[in-house]
Amino acid sequence: MKYDIKIFKTETPKQKPTDESKLGFGKIFTDHMFIMEYNKTEGWHNARIVPFGPIPTHPASTVLHYGAEIFEGMKAYRAVDGTIRMFRPLENVKRLNNSAERLCLPTIDEEGCLDILNTLVELEKDWIPSSVGTSLYIRPFIYGNDPHLGVHAVSNAMFVVICSPVGAYYAQGINPVKIAIESEDVRAVRGGTGYAKCGGNYAASLRAGQRAEENGYTQVLWLDGVERKYIEEVGAMNVMFKIGGKIITPMLSGSILPGITRKSCIELLKGWGYEVEERLFSVDELFEAAENGTLEEAWGTGTAAVVSPIGQLYYKGKEYVVSGNKIGEVTQKLYDNLTGIQWGKVEDENGWSYLVCNG
Ligand SMILES: *Cc1c(COP(=O)(O)O)cnc(C)c1O
Repeated sequence: MKYDIKIFKTETPKQKPTDESKLGFGKIFTDHMFIMEYNKTEGWHNARIVPFGPIPTHPASTVLHYGAEIFEGMKAYRAVDGTIRMFRPLENVKRLNNSAERLCLPTIDEEGCLDILNTLVELEKDWIPSSVGTSLYIRPFIYGNDPHLGVHAVSNAMFVVICSPVGAYYAQGINPVKIAIESEDVRAVRGGTGYAKCGGNYAASLRAGQRAEENGYTQVLWLDGVERKYIEEVGAMNVMFKIGGKIITPMLSGSILPGITRKSCIELLKGWGYEVEERLFSVDELFEAAENGTLEEAWGTGTAAVVSPIGQLYYKGKEYVVSGNKIGEVTQKLYDNLTGIQWGKVEDENGWSYLVCNG
């Protein structure tokens, strides 16, 4: 079911960035955004694309007080053949609805949501940068917008999509990151909202992230919230290890975000003949592997970076170097293949690349 999208074009288009090496991440926004509203009687309605700008919000709005917010992060790419493409967008739509279900926010029709993303990206296609590694980051989000302070599942909500041209994540080449394993704060617990992509998870993670940064680390590696023993995620990425030739990644236990990059890496790795274990993986097992020399590679996976090699790990006064602080062979192969599929340079055997329009 498609929503009836009205398009109101801006009369004052902005100057597009001329130096694509200075784009950074999420600092510049395109000319338009998508908005629609939800209420119990009409469902989702008033679907429209309007000039990008502030959204009036009631001071008692649910999102401001109780954090009723979920989001997605995905990209549109200008492929080497000139077409505009997204990567497995239906997976993002399905995850958005799973997150919505967890936070009692209204879900969106899958076909309708894909059509919204398509329509907006096509309208904004001239904003998609063309330098190597650049893309258009797409941020769909849903938030509760009831104008009263009572704590209930929401009856009024907003669905908004904004787009931002983003620079190459690895403009200076793929450098391994330094990771601090967090032993105090936790990001999520089973039964909580860890598997939902919600703003609240991020709010809870900021303190540890800030502490790690102050101590010279790029990101935090999260342990489980109950025993503080099992590895969960690294920053806002899923995490994988290559130990003695096998790939090990934490299983989706409910407190871990089911990453689309994670899923794609697992599918590629299995296709290449690697044994992939999705299971509980403790920090002790990790350090045992680091000490006995079987820890070969470690990397994070996520839409922003695709893969991010881990070069150093810190935990309770001990520091380990992984893979000689260089990107490992499997990490590099995953990066080359995923980005190759995204930019249309590698054959897309799995049908992951989704055609939005001809450029
Ligand atoms: C979005 C996200 C990821 C990565 O998911 P992708 O679909 O691969 O981009 C991992 N962990 C957290 C906490 C996230 O929010």
